[in-house]
Amino acid sequence: MSKKTCDIAIIGGGPAGLTAGLYAARGLVDTVIFEKQTTGGQIATTSWVENYPAFPTGISGVDLSELMTRQAQEYGAQVELFVTVTSLAKNSDGSFELQADSGDTWQARAVILASGAVPRKLGIPGEEEYTGRGISWCATCDAGFFKDKVIAVIGGGNSAVEEALYLTKFARKVYLVHRRDEFRATPLLVERARENDKIELALSAIPLEVIGDGAKVTGLRLQSATDDTQQTLTIEGIFEFVGVNPVSELVADLIDTSKTQGYIAVESNGSIPDIPGLFAAGDLTNSVLKQVISAAGSGATAAFSALKFLDDSDDT
Ligand code: NAP
Repeated sequence: MSKKTCDIAIIGGGPAGLTAGLYAARGLVDTVIFEKQTTGGQIATTSWVENYPAFPTGISGVDLSELMTRQAQEYGAQVELFVTVTSLAKNSDGSFELQADSGDTWQARAVILASGAVPRKLGIPGEEEYTGRGISWCATCDAGFFKDKVIAVIGGGNSAVEEALYLTKFARKVYLVHRRDEFRATPLLVERARENDKIELALSAIPLEVIGDGAKVTGLRLQSATDDTQQTLTIEGIFEFVGVNPVSELVADLIDTSKTQGYIAVESNGSIPDIPGLFAAGDLTNSVLKQVISAAGSGATAAFSALKFLDDSDDT
């Protein structure tokens, strides 16, 4: 309900936003990170992270989120949890105005967009009806409901294979359903999945329909990608990991993302062409690599550039 100010506003508290917050705060400017849920972004719902340096045997996504959050806060970044920025506008003096759903209006001299990406849905019959009744997008949140049950994980990327492996600790059997016969996941993970006795691969299999008994999931109907046959897996749970969509609606009026599938095109320093003071980092951008390390790296770059932008503005 009040008007507040900061130097750098960061929208999103995943690895990109938290790293940007750490770097901005260490530049001794007022830094606020707005996070609509809890911090961590996609890693908060990732069971285990094995490819972020300094953790030789990996670290849980929840623990990594917490460490990153603490580090940003330690150096002075203010983290506004459960606050959604509902609008972002550029003022005539070059600053930005952010409207938060807390009722507060924030004025910031620079803004870093780090709102990441959210899991995609399949859009098949039965999916909506059985969401929360056997269908999940978060293994760490829901694995416990499927102890000793037969389940399916859908997708062929890193998320699907990693989470299928994690789910074998709970489920009796995990079908890994992929629409092609080649995975896009890292070969090491695919090898582990192939070697895991609890995982049965269902390849070249396109999900057609979620079957249920009215109360919960009981099956998944699949269409073969190579012939006319169909099969129905008898399962009690489905975990979907079929990719992500960038969260860029907030800047739909400021940035044209129609040619980049909703992703934000940034310069190599994290700036957004033609909008001085606006930067972006992490999975929201059109970066080649969508991983924690690259999100953190781009967050650092964006903060460095935002600090330079503030310095240059002070000099003029
Ligand atoms: P992803 O890499 O985009 O993979 C999505 C998978 O879902 C693909 O195998 C795709 O099949 C399949 N798919 C998409 N639409 C489908 C549909 N309608 N029906 C059936 N299958 C469908 O997504 P992700 O695994 O969520 O990962 C997102 C990004 O984060 C990636 O860049 C990934 O590398 C990264 N990530 C990294 C790590 C790590 O480094 N450890 C962990 C998790 C995620 P096709 O292969 O046929 O397209």
